[in-house]
Amino acid sequence: MPSLEEEISSRRTFAIISHPDAGKTTLTEKLLLYTGTIQSAGSVKGKASAKHAVSDWMDIEKARGISVTSSVLQFTYEGHCVNILDTPGHQDFSEDTYRTLMAADSAVMVIDGAKGVEAQTVKLFKVCALRGIPIFTFVNKLDHETRDPFDLMEEIENVLGIGTYPMNWPIGNGRTFRGVFDRASRHVLAFEGDGRANATKRVAEVEAELGDAALDELIGEENHRTLMDDIELLDGADHEFDLEAVRTGKLTPVFFGSALTNFGVEPFLRDFLRLSPAPGPHTDSLTGDPVEATDPDFSGFVFKIQANMDKNHRDRIAFLRICSGKFVRGMDAFHVQGDRKIKLATGTAMMADDRATVDEACAGDIVGLFDPGIFSIGDTLCKVGRRVQFAGIPTFAPEHFARIEQVDTLKRKQFVKGMEELAQEGAIQIFREYGAGMERVIVGVVGTLQFEVLEQRLKSEYHVEVYRSPLPYNLIRWIDEKDGEVDMRSLNLTRETLRVEDMRGGKLLLFTSPWNLNWAEEHNDGLHLSEFGNVT
Ligand code: GDP
Repeated sequence: MPSLEEEISSRRTFAIISHPDAGKTTLTEKLLLYTGTIQSAGSVKGKASAKHAVSDWMDIEKARGISVTSSVLQFTYEGHCVNILDTPGHQDFSEDTYRTLMAADSAVMVIDGAKGVEAQTVKLFKVCALRGIPIFTFVNKLDHETRDPFDLMEEIENVLGIGTYPMNWPIGNGRTFRGVFDRASRHVLAFEGDGRANATKRVAEVEAELGDAALDELIGEENHRTLMDDIELLDGADHEFDLEAVRTGKLTPVFFGSALTNFGVEPFLRDFLRLSPAPGPHTDSLTGDPVEATDPDFSGFVFKIQANMDKNHRDRIAFLRICSGKFVRGMDAFHVQGDRKIKLATGTAMMADDRATVDEACAGDIVGLFDPGIFSIGDTLCKVGRRVQFAGIPTFAPEHFARIEQVDTLKRKQFVKGMEELAQEGAIQIFREYGAGMERVIVGVVGTLQFEVLEQRLKSEYHVEVYRSPLPYNLIRWIDEKDGEVDMRSLNLTRETLRVEDMRGGKLLLFTSPWNLNWAEEHNDGLHLSEFGNVT
Protein backbone atom coordinates (compact mmCIF):
# COMPACT_ATOMS: atom_id res chain seq x y z
CA MET A 1 0.00 0.00 0.00
CA PRO A 2 1.46 3.37 -0.95
CA SER A 3 1.56 5.94 1.82
CA LEU A 4 -0.59 9.06 1.65
CA GLU A 5 2.52 11.08 0.73
CA GLU A 6 3.32 8.70 -2.11
CA GLU A 7 -0.24 8.78 -3.39
CA ILE A 8 -0.33 12.55 -3.37
CA SER A 9 3.08 13.01 -4.95
CA SER A 10 2.00 10.73 -7.81
CA ARG A 11 -0.96 13.00 -8.57
CA ARG A 12 -1.04 15.35 -11.54
CA THR A 13 -4.20 17.42 -11.79
CA PHE A 14 -4.44 19.61 -14.84
CA ALA A 15 -6.82 21.20 -17.33
CA ILE A 16 -6.44 21.41 -21.07
CA ILE A 17 -7.21 24.83 -22.47
CA SER A 18 -7.60 25.79 -26.09
CA HIS A 19 -9.65 27.62 -28.62
CA PRO A 20 -12.30 25.35 -30.16
CA ASP A 21 -10.95 23.05 -32.85
CA ALA A 22 -7.31 23.37 -31.86
CA GLY A 23 -7.37 19.68 -30.92
CA LYS A 24 -8.11 19.46 -27.21
CA THR A 25 -10.49 16.53 -27.56
CA THR A 26 -8.12 14.70 -29.88
CA LEU A 27 -5.16 15.22 -27.56
CA THR A 28 -7.17 14.09 -24.52
CA GLU A 29 -8.22 11.01 -26.40
CA LYS A 30 -4.65 10.19 -27.37
CA LEU A 31 -3.50 10.57 -23.79
CA LEU A 32 -6.16 8.10 -22.72
CA LEU A 33 -5.19 5.80 -25.54
CA TYR A 34 -1.51 5.79 -24.65
CA THR A 35 -2.23 5.11 -21.08
CA GLY A 36 -4.52 2.23 -21.90
CA THR A 37 -7.55 3.95 -20.40
CA ILE A 38 -9.53 3.59 -23.60
CA GLN A 39 -9.03 1.08 -26.36
CA SER A 40 -10.08 3.00 -29.39
CA ALA A 41 -10.14 6.55 -30.59
CA GLY A 42 -13.58 8.10 -30.72
CA SER A 43 -14.62 7.09 -27.22
CA VAL A 44 -14.17 10.45 -25.66
CA LYS A 45 -17.35 12.40 -25.61
CA GLY A 46 -17.18 15.09 -28.19
CA LYS A 47 -18.92 16.66 -31.08
CA ALA A 48 -18.46 13.66 -33.31
CA SER A 49 -19.39 10.86 -30.98
CA ALA A 50 -22.92 10.53 -29.79
CA LYS A 51 -22.22 9.39 -26.27
CA HIS A 52 -23.91 11.25 -23.48
CA ALA A 53 -23.45 8.88 -20.63
CA VAL A 54 -22.09 11.30 -18.09
CA SER A 55 -24.52 14.12 -18.28
CA ASP A 56 -27.59 13.62 -20.35
CA TRP A 57 -29.36 15.56 -17.69
CA MET A 58 -30.54 18.25 -19.96
CA ASP A 59 -32.25 18.31 -23.27
CA ILE A 60 -29.94 20.93 -24.70
CA GLU A 61 -27.00 18.71 -24.07
CA LYS A 62 -28.64 15.91 -25.95
CA ALA A 63 -29.78 18.12 -28.76
CA ARG A 64 -26.33 19.56 -29.22
CA GLY A 65 -24.35 16.47 -28.45
CA ILE A 66 -22.05 18.32 -26.14
CA SER A 67 -21.35 18.33 -22.48
CA VAL A 68 -22.45 21.56 -20.87
CA THR A 69 -20.46 21.04 -17.73
CA SER A 70 -16.94 19.86 -17.51
CA SER A 71 -16.05 16.47 -16.19
CA VAL A 72 -12.95 14.86 -14.82
CA LEU A 73 -11.02 12.00 -16.34
CA GLN A 74 -8.70 9.95 -14.20
CA PHE A 75 -6.08 7.48 -15.32
CA THR A 76 -2.79 6.04 -14.20
CA TYR A 77 0.39 6.02 -16.23
CA GLU A 78 3.92 5.04 -15.27
CA GLY A 79 3.33 5.48 -11.58
CA HIS A 80 1.34 8.68 -11.93
CA CYS A 81 -2.29 9.16 -11.16
CA VAL A 82 -3.50 11.75 -13.63
CA ASN A 83 -6.64 13.86 -13.33
CA ILE A 84 -7.63 15.75 -16.46
CA LEU A 85 -10.18 18.40 -15.76
CA ASP A 86 -12.01 18.57 -19.01
CA THR A 87 -13.24 22.03 -19.93
CA PRO A 88 -15.93 22.43 -22.57
CA GLY A 89 -14.13 23.21 -25.80
CA HIS A 90 -17.30 24.23 -27.51
CA GLN A 91 -17.84 27.79 -28.59
CA ASP A 92 -20.51 28.07 -25.92
CA PHE A 93 -18.32 27.58 -22.96
CA SER A 94 -19.50 28.83 -19.60
CA GLU A 95 -18.29 30.21 -16.33
CA ASP A 96 -17.76 26.64 -15.18
CA THR A 97 -14.89 26.43 -17.64
CA TYR A 98 -13.12 29.19 -15.72
CA ARG A 99 -14.05 27.78 -12.33
CA THR A 100 -12.59 24.43 -13.29
CA LEU A 101 -9.25 26.12 -13.82
CA MET A 102 -9.31 27.13 -10.15
CA ALA A 103 -9.13 23.43 -9.28
CA ALA A 104 -6.18 22.60 -11.55
CA ASP A 105 -2.53 22.49 -10.51
CA SER A 106 -1.33 23.13 -14.04
CA ALA A 107 -2.67 23.66 -17.53
CA VAL A 108 -1.88 22.35 -20.96
CA MET A 109 -2.48 24.92 -23.66
CA VAL A 110 -3.16 23.43 -27.07
CA ILE A 111 -2.45 25.73 -29.99
CA ASP A 112 -3.29 25.11 -33.61
CA GLY A 113 0.05 25.52 -35.36
CA ALA A 114 -1.61 27.13 -38.37
CA LYS A 115 -3.61 29.62 -36.34
CA GLY A 116 -1.46 30.49 -33.38
CA VAL A 117 -2.88 32.11 -30.24
CA GLU A 118 -6.66 32.50 -30.65
CA ALA A 119 -9.28 34.46 -28.71
CA GLN A 120 -10.52 31.77 -26.34
CA THR A 121 -6.99 30.67 -25.56
CA VAL A 122 -6.22 34.21 -24.42
CA LYS A 123 -9.22 34.26 -22.05
CA LEU A 124 -8.45 30.90 -20.52
CA PHE A 125 -4.78 31.76 -20.27
CA LYS A 126 -5.62 34.90 -18.27
CA VAL A 127 -7.43 32.84 -15.66
CA CYS A 128 -4.48 30.46 -15.36
CA ALA A 129 -2.14 33.43 -15.13
CA LEU A 130 -4.30 34.88 -12.33
CA ARG A 131 -3.34 31.85 -10.28
CA GLY A 132 0.25 31.63 -11.49
CA ILE A 133 -0.03 27.92 -12.29
CA PRO A 134 2.43 26.28 -14.67
CA ILE A 135 1.32 26.25 -18.29
CA PHE A 136 2.60 23.73 -20.83
CA THR A 137 2.12 24.43 -24.52
CA PHE A 138 1.40 21.80 -27.15
CA VAL A 139 1.58 23.20 -30.68
CA ASN A 140 -0.69 20.89 -32.61
CA LYS A 141 -1.44 19.89 -36.21
CA LEU A 142 2.17 19.80 -37.37
CA ASP A 143 1.03 17.24 -39.95
CA HIS A 144 -0.62 20.17 -41.69
CA GLU A 145 1.15 23.21 -42.99
CA THR A 146 1.73 25.41 -39.94
CA ARG A 147 3.25 28.77 -39.29
CA ASP A 148 6.95 29.12 -38.67
CA PRO A 149 7.73 27.77 -35.18
CA PHE A 150 9.84 30.84 -34.33
CA ASP A 151 6.87 33.06 -35.22
CA LEU A 152 4.55 31.00 -33.07
CA MET A 153 6.84 31.29 -30.06
CA GLU A 154 7.11 35.02 -30.54
CA GLU A 155 3.34 35.31 -30.72
CA ILE A 156 2.90 33.36 -27.48
CA GLU A 157 5.39 35.66 -25.78
CA ASN A 158 3.90 38.87 -27.14
CA VAL A 159 0.21 38.11 -26.92
CA LEU A 160 0.20 36.18 -23.66
CA GLY A 161 3.16 37.75 -21.95
CA ILE A 162 4.82 34.49 -20.93
CA GLY A 163 8.34 33.34 -21.76
CA THR A 164 8.70 30.26 -23.99
CA TYR A 165 11.14 27.41 -23.89
CA PRO A 166 10.91 24.87 -26.72
CA MET A 167 11.43 21.43 -25.22
CA ASN A 168 11.53 19.96 -28.66
CA TRP A 169 11.59 21.31 -32.18
CA PRO A 170 9.61 20.13 -35.18
CA ILE A 171 11.31 18.44 -38.08
CA GLY A 172 9.53 19.39 -41.28
CA ASN A 173 6.05 20.71 -41.55
CA GLY A 174 2.86 19.38 -43.10
CA ARG A 175 3.61 16.47 -45.36
CA THR A 176 7.28 16.63 -44.57
CA PHE A 177 6.75 16.43 -40.79
CA ARG A 178 8.99 13.60 -39.64
CA GLY A 179 9.49 14.03 -35.94
CA VAL A 180 10.92 16.26 -33.29
CA PHE A 181 14.35 17.08 -31.97
CA ASP A 182 14.48 16.64 -28.22
CA ARG A 183 16.58 19.45 -26.85
CA ALA A 184 17.45 17.93 -23.49
CA SER A 185 18.83 14.66 -24.85
CA ARG A 186 19.84 16.29 -28.15
CA HIS A 187 18.31 13.34 -29.94
CA VAL A 188 16.15 13.26 -32.98
CA LEU A 189 12.95 11.36 -32.46
CA ALA A 190 11.84 10.33 -35.91
CA PHE A 191 8.37 8.93 -35.97
CA GLU A 192 7.70 5.81 -37.89
CA GLY A 193 4.48 5.08 -39.65
CA ASP A 194 2.59 6.77 -42.37
CA GLY A 195 1.15 9.50 -40.17
CA ARG A 196 -2.27 8.25 -41.05
CA ALA A 197 -5.01 10.35 -39.58
CA ASN A 198 -6.56 8.78 -36.54
CA ALA A 199 -3.78 6.30 -36.11
CA THR A 200 -4.50 4.50 -32.90
CA LYS A 201 -1.16 2.73 -32.61
CA ARG A 202 1.65 4.09 -30.56
CA VAL A 203 4.18 5.73 -32.74
CA ALA A 204 7.56 4.04 -32.90
CA GLU A 205 10.39 6.46 -32.32
CA VAL A 206 13.79 6.08 -33.86
CA GLU A 207 16.55 7.93 -32.07
CA ALA A 208 19.42 9.51 -33.95
CA GLU A 209 22.12 12.11 -33.41
CA LEU A 210 22.07 15.47 -35.07
CA GLY A 211 24.53 15.54 -37.96
CA ASP A 212 24.46 11.75 -38.29
CA ALA A 213 24.55 10.75 -41.97
CA ALA A 214 21.78 8.26 -41.32
CA LEU A 215 19.52 11.16 -40.48
CA ASP A 216 19.49 12.30 -44.10
CA GLU A 217 17.65 9.18 -44.95
CA LEU A 218 15.42 9.18 -41.92
CA ILE A 219 14.11 12.71 -42.11
CA GLY A 220 15.28 13.90 -45.51
CA GLU A 221 18.32 15.95 -46.42
CA GLU A 222 16.51 19.26 -46.51
CA ASN A 223 14.78 18.69 -43.17
CA HIS A 224 18.12 17.76 -41.67
CA ARG A 225 19.77 20.92 -42.90
CA THR A 226 16.95 23.16 -41.70
CA LEU A 227 16.94 21.46 -38.35
CA MET A 228 20.69 22.02 -37.87
CA ASP A 229 20.21 25.72 -38.64
CA ASP A 230 17.19 26.04 -36.36
CA ILE A 231 18.89 24.36 -33.44
CA GLU A 232 21.95 26.56 -33.82
CA LEU A 233 19.69 29.59 -33.74
CA LEU A 234 17.77 28.29 -30.72
CA ASP A 235 20.87 27.38 -28.77
CA GLY A 236 22.34 30.78 -29.47
CA ALA A 237 19.28 32.83 -28.56
CA ASP A 238 17.83 30.84 -25.76
CA HIS A 239 18.14 31.09 -22.05
CA GLU A 240 18.64 28.14 -19.73
CA PHE A 241 15.66 25.99 -18.95
CA ASP A 242 14.39 27.34 -15.64
CA LEU A 243 12.10 24.96 -13.76
CA GLU A 244 11.32 27.56 -11.13
CA ALA A 245 10.07 29.95 -13.82
CA VAL A 246 7.91 27.13 -15.21
CA ARG A 247 6.49 26.35 -11.79
CA THR A 248 5.50 29.96 -11.20
CA GLY A 249 3.87 30.35 -14.61
CA LYS A 250 6.50 32.71 -16.03
CA LEU A 251 7.88 30.35 -18.64
CA THR A 252 5.97 27.82 -20.73
CA PRO A 253 7.69 24.70 -22.02
CA VAL A 254 6.67 24.29 -25.66
CA PHE A 255 6.17 20.96 -27.44
CA PHE A 256 5.38 20.33 -31.08
CA GLY A 257 3.34 17.49 -32.46
CA SER A 258 0.23 16.22 -34.10
CA ALA A 259 -2.43 14.74 -31.89
CA LEU A 260 -4.27 13.27 -34.83
CA THR A 261 -1.36 11.19 -36.10
CA ASN A 262 0.04 10.58 -32.58
CA PHE A 263 3.32 12.24 -33.50
CA GLY A 264 4.88 13.87 -30.47
CA VAL A 265 2.14 12.96 -28.01
CA GLU A 266 4.14 10.50 -25.97
CA PRO A 267 7.30 12.62 -25.64
CA PHE A 268 5.03 15.42 -24.49
CA LEU A 269 3.28 13.26 -21.91
CA ARG A 270 6.57 11.98 -20.49
CA ASP A 271 8.04 15.46 -20.06
CA PHE A 272 4.78 16.90 -18.82
CA LEU A 273 4.54 14.30 -16.05
CA ARG A 274 8.17 14.89 -15.12
CA LEU A 275 7.91 18.69 -14.97
CA SER A 276 4.36 19.35 -13.80
CA PRO A 277 3.76 19.76 -10.08
CA ALA A 278 2.12 17.35 -7.69
CA PRO A 279 -0.62 18.94 -5.57
CA GLY A 280 0.89 21.77 -3.53
CA PRO A 281 -0.23 23.79 -0.52
CA HIS A 282 -3.37 25.95 -0.42
CA THR A 283 -3.49 28.99 1.80
CA ASP A 284 -5.86 29.04 4.74
CA SER A 285 -7.32 32.51 4.52
CA LEU A 286 -8.20 32.51 8.22
CA THR A 287 -4.60 32.30 9.36
CA GLY A 288 -2.66 33.00 6.18
CA ASP A 289 -0.80 29.72 6.72
CA PRO A 290 -0.33 27.12 4.02
CA VAL A 291 -2.21 23.83 4.31
CA GLU A 292 0.11 21.23 2.82
CA ALA A 293 -1.42 18.67 0.46
CA THR A 294 0.18 15.95 2.54
CA ASP A 295 -1.42 17.24 5.74
CA PRO A 296 -3.32 14.15 6.92
CA ASP A 297 -6.40 16.22 7.81
CA PHE A 298 -8.94 16.24 5.02
CA SER A 299 -9.81 19.58 3.38
CA GLY A 300 -11.11 20.84 0.06
CA PHE A 301 -13.22 23.46 -1.68
CA VAL A 302 -16.26 23.42 -3.93
CA PHE A 303 -15.48 24.86 -7.36
CA LYS A 304 -18.51 23.87 -9.36
CA ILE A 305 -22.10 22.91 -8.75
CA GLN A 306 -24.04 20.93 -11.25
CA ALA A 307 -27.78 20.81 -10.89
CA ASN A 308 -30.21 18.06 -11.63
CA MET A 309 -27.94 15.45 -13.06
CA ASP A 310 -30.71 13.09 -12.19
CA LYS A 311 -33.98 14.41 -13.52
CA ASN A 312 -36.02 12.65 -10.85
CA HIS A 313 -34.44 14.63 -8.07
CA ARG A 314 -33.73 18.26 -7.56
CA ASP A 315 -30.41 17.33 -6.09
CA ARG A 316 -27.19 18.81 -7.16
CA ILE A 317 -23.63 17.58 -7.40
CA ALA A 318 -21.00 19.78 -5.81
CA PHE A 319 -17.55 19.24 -7.26
CA LEU A 320 -14.92 19.32 -4.59
CA ARG A 321 -11.22 19.73 -5.15
CA ILE A 322 -9.47 17.93 -2.34
CA CYS A 323 -6.64 20.11 -1.03
CA SER A 324 -5.24 17.91 1.72
CA GLY A 325 -5.54 14.50 3.28
CA LYS A 326 -7.89 11.79 2.26
CA PHE A 327 -11.58 11.60 1.44
CA VAL A 328 -13.49 8.51 2.44
CA ARG A 329 -17.05 8.02 1.35
CA GLY A 330 -19.47 8.49 4.19
CA MET A 331 -17.01 10.39 6.32
CA ASP A 332 -18.01 13.29 8.51
CA ALA A 333 -16.67 16.67 7.56
CA PHE A 334 -17.06 20.23 8.73
CA HIS A 335 -18.77 22.55 6.29
CA VAL A 336 -17.14 25.85 7.16
CA GLN A 337 -19.60 28.26 5.52
CA GLY A 338 -22.57 26.31 6.88
CA ASP A 339 -20.82 26.13 10.27
CA ARG A 340 -21.84 22.54 10.85
CA LYS A 341 -20.82 18.94 10.63
CA ILE A 342 -22.14 16.96 7.66
CA LYS A 343 -21.81 13.46 6.31
CA LEU A 344 -20.27 13.28 2.86
CA ALA A 345 -22.79 10.74 1.73
CA THR A 346 -22.03 10.14 -1.88
CA GLY A 347 -18.82 10.54 -3.72
CA THR A 348 -18.66 10.33 -7.44
CA ALA A 349 -15.76 10.71 -9.79
CA MET A 350 -15.87 10.93 -13.50
CA MET A 351 -14.04 8.02 -15.03
CA ALA A 352 -14.00 8.56 -18.78
CA ASP A 353 -17.67 8.48 -19.62
CA ASP A 354 -19.00 6.62 -16.64
CA ARG A 355 -20.00 8.16 -13.40
CA ALA A 356 -18.48 5.84 -10.91
CA THR A 357 -18.78 6.02 -7.18
CA VAL A 358 -15.51 6.60 -5.43
CA ASP A 359 -14.81 5.26 -2.00
CA GLU A 360 -11.53 7.00 -1.42
CA ALA A 361 -9.70 9.91 -2.93
CA CYS A 362 -6.83 12.11 -1.85
CA ALA A 363 -5.39 15.59 -2.26
CA GLY A 364 -5.35 16.52 -5.93
CA ASP A 365 -8.46 14.50 -6.75
CA ILE A 366 -11.90 15.79 -7.58
CA VAL A 367 -15.01 14.21 -6.10
CA GLY A 368 -18.61 14.95 -6.85
CA LEU A 369 -20.57 15.27 -3.62
CA PHE A 370 -24.25 14.79 -3.23
CA ASP A 371 -25.61 18.26 -2.47
CA PRO A 372 -29.09 18.68 -1.06
CA GLY A 373 -28.71 22.42 -1.70
CA ILE A 374 -26.35 23.39 1.10
CA PHE A 375 -23.18 24.18 -0.80
CA SER A 376 -22.18 27.32 -2.63
CA ILE A 377 -19.30 27.77 -5.00
CA GLY A 378 -16.11 28.46 -3.07
CA ASP A 379 -17.20 26.70 0.15
CA THR A 380 -14.61 24.87 2.23
CA LEU A 381 -14.98 21.42 3.76
CA CYS A 382 -12.49 20.17 6.29
CA LYS A 383 -11.88 17.67 9.01
CA VAL A 384 -14.26 17.97 11.94
CA GLY A 385 -12.51 19.80 14.76
CA ARG A 386 -10.28 21.79 12.48
CA ARG A 387 -11.32 24.98 10.80
CA VAL A 388 -9.59 26.10 7.66
CA GLN A 389 -11.01 28.24 4.91
CA PHE A 390 -9.71 28.52 1.39
CA ALA A 391 -10.02 31.69 -0.64
CA GLY A 392 -13.14 31.44 -2.74
CA ILE A 393 -13.60 31.49 -6.48
CA PRO A 394 -13.55 34.89 -8.20
CA THR A 395 -16.48 36.06 -10.27
CA PHE A 396 -15.44 36.03 -13.91
CA ALA A 397 -16.36 38.81 -16.27
CA PRO A 398 -19.45 37.94 -18.32
CA GLU A 399 -19.30 38.94 -21.96
CA HIS A 400 -22.92 38.60 -22.98
CA PHE A 401 -25.78 40.49 -21.41
CA ALA A 402 -29.52 40.35 -21.77
CA ARG A 403 -32.53 41.75 -20.05
CA ILE A 404 -34.77 38.99 -18.77
CA GLU A 405 -38.46 39.54 -18.10
CA GLN A 406 -41.16 37.12 -17.21
CA VAL A 407 -43.96 36.50 -19.69
CA ASP A 408 -46.62 36.09 -17.02
CA THR A 409 -46.29 38.95 -14.57
CA LEU A 410 -48.41 37.09 -12.03
CA LYS A 411 -45.56 34.64 -11.52
CA ARG A 412 -43.37 37.34 -10.04
CA LYS A 413 -42.46 35.35 -6.94
CA GLN A 414 -41.36 32.23 -8.78
CA PHE A 415 -39.42 34.38 -11.23
CA VAL A 416 -37.48 36.23 -8.55
CA LYS A 417 -36.86 33.02 -6.61
CA GLY A 418 -35.66 31.19 -9.72
CA MET A 419 -33.36 33.98 -10.78
CA GLU A 420 -31.89 34.37 -7.33
CA GLU A 421 -31.38 30.67 -6.78
CA LEU A 422 -29.79 30.12 -10.17
CA ALA A 423 -27.51 33.08 -9.62
CA GLN A 424 -26.56 31.82 -6.18
CA GLU A 425 -25.76 28.43 -7.63
CA GLY A 426 -23.47 30.16 -10.13
CA ALA A 427 -25.39 29.25 -13.28
CA ILE A 428 -25.68 32.93 -14.25
CA GLN A 429 -24.77 36.35 -12.86
CA ILE A 430 -27.53 38.81 -12.21
CA PHE A 431 -27.34 42.57 -12.04
CA ARG A 432 -29.79 45.38 -11.74
CA GLU A 433 -29.60 48.83 -13.16
CA TYR A 434 -28.21 51.18 -10.61
CA GLY A 435 -31.02 52.40 -8.40
CA ALA A 436 -33.63 50.04 -9.92
CA GLY A 437 -35.20 46.90 -8.44
CA MET A 438 -35.47 43.34 -9.64
CA GLU A 439 -37.87 44.37 -12.40
CA ARG A 440 -34.89 45.61 -14.38
CA VAL A 441 -32.87 42.47 -14.10
CA ILE A 442 -29.89 42.01 -16.35
CA VAL A 443 -28.27 38.64 -16.76
CA GLY A 444 -24.60 38.29 -17.62
CA VAL A 445 -23.00 35.11 -18.89
CA VAL A 446 -19.59 34.00 -20.03
CA GLY A 447 -20.99 31.75 -22.77
CA THR A 448 -24.35 32.17 -24.47
CA LEU A 449 -25.28 28.57 -23.77
CA GLN A 450 -25.87 29.73 -20.19
CA PHE A 451 -28.86 31.77 -21.42
CA GLU A 452 -30.41 28.63 -22.81
CA VAL A 453 -29.72 26.77 -19.62
CA LEU A 454 -31.35 29.61 -17.68
CA GLU A 455 -34.50 29.59 -19.81
CA GLN A 456 -34.78 25.83 -19.73
CA ARG A 457 -34.33 25.65 -15.99
CA LEU A 458 -36.70 28.51 -15.21
CA LYS A 459 -39.29 26.69 -17.27
CA SER A 460 -38.81 23.17 -15.96
CA GLU A 461 -37.97 23.91 -12.32
CA TYR A 462 -39.83 27.14 -11.62
CA HIS A 463 -42.54 26.99 -14.30
CA VAL A 464 -41.71 30.47 -15.48
CA GLU A 465 -41.43 31.55 -19.10
CA VAL A 466 -39.24 34.53 -19.90
CA TYR A 467 -38.45 36.96 -22.66
CA ARG A 468 -34.83 37.60 -23.37
CA SER A 469 -33.73 40.87 -24.97
CA PRO A 470 -30.04 40.98 -25.81
CA LEU A 471 -28.14 44.05 -24.66
CA PRO A 472 -25.25 45.59 -26.59
CA TYR A 473 -22.73 45.42 -23.75
CA ASN A 474 -19.79 43.06 -23.91
CA LEU A 475 -17.36 44.38 -21.33
CA ILE A 476 -17.86 44.56 -17.60
CA ARG A 477 -15.69 46.00 -14.88
CA TRP A 478 -16.09 45.92 -11.14
CA ILE A 479 -15.44 49.21 -9.39
CA ASP A 480 -12.78 48.78 -6.78
CA GLU A 481 -13.80 50.61 -3.62
CA LYS A 482 -10.82 49.68 -1.51
CA ASP A 483 -9.65 53.29 -1.44
CA GLY A 484 -13.06 54.62 -0.53
CA GLU A 485 -16.63 54.69 -1.72
CA VAL A 486 -17.28 55.72 -5.32
CA ASP A 487 -20.30 57.82 -6.11
CA MET A 488 -21.81 56.18 -9.19
CA ARG A 489 -23.83 59.20 -10.19
CA SER A 490 -20.85 61.52 -10.32
CA LEU A 491 -18.85 59.34 -12.71
CA ASN A 492 -18.13 60.85 -16.07
CA LEU A 493 -19.17 58.17 -18.60
CA THR A 494 -20.18 57.86 -22.23
CA ARG A 495 -23.81 57.38 -23.10
CA GLU A 496 -23.13 53.76 -24.05
CA THR A 497 -21.99 52.94 -20.53
CA LEU A 498 -24.45 51.46 -18.05
CA ARG A 499 -24.16 51.65 -14.26
CA VAL A 500 -25.25 48.43 -12.56
CA GLU A 501 -25.07 46.69 -9.21
CA ASP A 502 -24.63 43.04 -8.41
CA MET A 503 -26.67 41.22 -5.80
CA ARG A 504 -24.21 42.03 -3.06
CA GLY A 505 -24.32 45.72 -3.76
CA GLY A 506 -21.06 45.69 -5.69
CA LYS A 507 -20.84 48.50 -8.23
CA LEU A 508 -20.11 47.78 -11.85
CA LEU A 509 -19.99 49.36 -15.25
CA LEU A 510 -21.07 47.79 -18.53
CA PHE A 511 -19.44 48.93 -21.74
CA THR A 512 -20.16 48.34 -25.39
CA SER A 513 -16.52 48.63 -26.46
CA PRO A 514 -12.98 49.05 -25.14
CA TRP A 515 -13.20 52.63 -26.34
CA ASN A 516 -15.93 53.37 -23.79
CA LEU A 517 -13.94 51.60 -21.11
CA ASN A 518 -10.89 53.73 -21.88
CA TRP A 519 -13.04 56.82 -21.72
CA ALA A 520 -14.19 55.91 -18.22
CA GLU A 521 -10.65 55.33 -17.07
CA GLU A 522 -9.33 58.52 -18.61
CA HIS A 523 -12.10 60.81 -17.39
CA ASN A 524 -12.41 59.68 -13.79
CA ASP A 525 -9.39 60.27 -11.62
CA GLY A 526 -8.74 57.56 -9.09
CA LEU A 527 -11.31 55.15 -10.56
CA HIS A 528 -10.01 51.61 -10.27
CA LEU A 529 -11.69 48.98 -12.43
CA SER A 530 -11.17 45.27 -12.09
CA GLU A 531 -11.74 42.45 -14.53
CA PHE A 532 -12.47 39.87 -11.86
CA GLY A 533 -15.22 40.22 -9.30
CA ASN A 534 -15.06 39.61 -5.62
CA VAL A 535 -14.12 36.21 -4.42
CA THR A 536 -17.25 34.28 -3.50
P1 GDP B 1 -11.24 20.73 -29.82
O1 GDP B 1 -12.41 21.54 -30.27
O2 GDP B 1 -10.09 21.58 -29.38
O3 GDP B 1 -11.57 19.66 -28.84
O4 GDP B 1 -10.70 20.04 -31.17
P2 GDP B 1 -10.85 18.55 -31.70
O5 GDP B 1 -9.93 17.63 -30.99
O6 GDP B 1 -12.28 18.20 -31.77
O7 GDP B 1 -10.26 18.76 -33.15
C1 GDP B 1 -10.83 19.64 -34.10
C2 GDP B 1 -10.54 19.15 -35.51
O8 GDP B 1 -9.14 19.15 -35.75
C3 GDP B 1 -10.99 17.70 -35.73
O9 GDP B 1 -11.49 17.58 -37.04
C4 GDP B 1 -9.71 16.91 -35.54
O10 GDP B 1 -9.73 15.71 -36.28
C5 GDP B 1 -8.68 17.87 -36.10
N1 GDP B 1 -7.36 17.65 -35.51
C6 GDP B 1 -7.05 17.48 -34.19
N2 GDP B 1 -5.72 17.27 -34.04
C7 GDP B 1 -5.19 17.32 -35.29
C8 GDP B 1 -3.86 17.16 -35.80
O11 GDP B 1 -2.90 16.92 -35.08
N3 GDP B 1 -3.72 17.29 -37.14
C9 GDP B 1 -4.77 17.54 -37.99
N4 GDP B 1 -4.51 17.63 -39.28
N5 GDP B 1 -6.02 17.68 -37.54
C10 GDP B 1 -6.23 17.57 -36.22
